[in-house]
Amino acid sequence: MRKLAAGNWKMNGTGADLAEVAALRAAHPSPAVDILICPPATLLSRLSQAAGPAIASGGQDCHAAASGAHTGDISAAMLIDAGASYVILGHSERRADHRETDAVVAAKCQAAWAAGLTAVVCVGETEAQRDAGQTLGAIGAQLAGSIPEGAGPDTLVVAYEPVWAIGTGRVPSPEQIAEVHDFLRAELTARLGPRTASGIRLLYGGSVKPDNAAGIFAVSNVDGALVGGASLKAADFSAIVTALEDAPV
Ligand code: PEP
Repeated sequence: MRKLAAGNWKMNGTGADLAEVAALRAAHPSPAVDILICPPATLLSRLSQAAGPAIASGGQDCHAAASGAHTGDISAAMLIDAGASYVILGHSERRADHRETDAVVAAKCQAAWAAGLTAVVCVGETEAQRDAGQTLGAIGAQLAGSIPEGAGPDTLVVAYEPVWAIGTGRVPSPEQIAEVHDFLRAELTARLGPRTASGIRLLYGGSVKPDNAAGIFAVSNVDGALVGGASLKAADFSAIVTALEDAPV
């Protein structure tokens, strides 16, 4: 399995920020891990060209339908046309801002697969759920409901993103991350069998920074990271990529 360092630019970035991609490309001409950047849709085509062959690009969402009267939305085929090979689905900000349910995320995942995209499906508990001892229950339900039948290592990446850790500077302990990632692997194994489940990459996301990345990447069943704020600057993201390259297998 090749590990994955994924950047989620969210609603940040204009043409000027493509210089960060050029710098990242120059720093990692032949990376030992997969690198992915998911910019806003307006930048996807230009970023895909600027990134070169060693850095993949992806969307931050897609519609469940292939085309039609959905003003403002983007289909999976449009993402591919703009150069994407991945799409983030079910990010907690979309689940909250756009009321996306597990069923909606699963339908989008089907559409992504039908078009040929790899889906990065996000799951994660709120702080209230963690405080109530509901972390694994909440994540298990999201995982079961958000991923359609037929997942495999080439079509699915799962990102564990505790909602309370996103953009806050707060990070779960290594034991807390291990508990969830071991649980995710076990759930995928029960559903898909050990051979398929062992190849599906499990990313941790939530306030990953250059100074905490190595510790997170040393945790069992952590196969990479989904990085928000620290993916916007090439120097920070490059340091995280290097930490992943140096992480224990
Ligand atoms: C994210 O939103 O996917 C994320 C992990 O953000 P940050 O790294 O800024 O916490």
